[in-house]
Amino acid sequence: MEEFQKELPKLAKDKHPENKKYFAKLKKKPPKDLDYTMQEIHDEEFERTDCLSCANCCKTTGPLFTNADIARISKHFKMKEHRFIAQYLHFDEDDHYVLKSVPCTFLADDNECMIYDVRPKACREYPHTDRKKFYQISDLTLKNVAICPAAYNIVEEMKKRIPK
Ligand code: SF4
Ligand code: SF4
Repeated sequence: MEEFQKELPKLAKDKHPENKKYFAKLKKKPPKDLDYTMQEIHDEEFERTDCLSCANCCKTTGPLFTNADIARISKHFKMKEHRFIAQYLHFDEDDHYVLKSVPCTFLADDNECMIYDVRPKACREYPHTDRKKFYQISDLTLKNVAICPAAYNIVEEMKKRIPK
């Protein structure tokens, strides 16, 4: 996994033109069973993937924190929301609350998430490869394949199973 993780940015860069064309075609004519096939590919990949030996998403890119995330996590820490925000978050240029720094403050040395049960929605859903109408998030996916080994494999498998 570590070796693959290191090579991922270059692998993703090499695949970028091909992936971009693929998603453009997919968007024009998505197959009827796309959601079903994506769920299948996603589940198969995550059966093989050990996120605890990776944590690259937590190390390199932080999640957005919704108001509901902030309320839930502050409550978990028994902190006032404004204090939680002041301590851990900042407002980015797109007006989203994000972490002040990466790797994520809540990532332990053994790659466990210290707030796993109350983690942000974005963390629970990352890398979003089982999302309905997957072609709608192709720009995000094109970025995620350079960060997430599972997302990279999922897109490679998609191109085989859903040729364009
Ligand atoms: S979701 Fe992707 S980047 Fe995050 S730990 Fe799992 S394999 Fe790694
Ligand atoms: S909150 Fe947990 S799952 Fe989300 S980025 Fe931080 S360590 Fe990773």
